[in-house]
Amino acid sequence: MFELMDLLTGGFGIFLLVCYFFITSIFTSWLAAGKGYNGGAWFVLGLFFGILALLTIGLAPDNKINELVSKLDDIKRSLNIQSPENNTLTKPSMANATINSYNDEFWTCKKCATKNPLVSNSCSDCGEYK
Ligand SMILES: [Zn+2]
Repeated sequence: MFELMDLLTGGFGIFLLVCYFFITSIFTSWLAAGKGYNGGAWFVLGLFFGILALLTIGLAPDNKINELVSKLDDIKRSLNIQSPENNTLTKPSMANATINSYNDEFWTCKKCATKNPLVSNSCSDCGEYK
């Protein structure tokens, strides 16, 4: 019995302690990775906190859903960053295009302000020539 205590308090005890922390660290990082957390970071936490880190990650909610949500948010954000630029580029040019095509295809009568198609030389409403 005395010899066993000597072993535990001596080098063998430290060896067991190292083994215990190493095993809990492996389990902690394995659990963390499975739940979508940083396995490497949790391995280090396991080395420092042992069973506490293992319990923490064991009770922690699954981060994979959160990870997916944050990825979706990133995609949404990148789309939102692009869309205002696109809007400022497309909206005025589209407006200009409609105005231009409107002006191109119609002429306004000086007498009654009726818009007539360019193909006709006289106003459809009052017969005034353009
Ligand atoms: Zn007219």
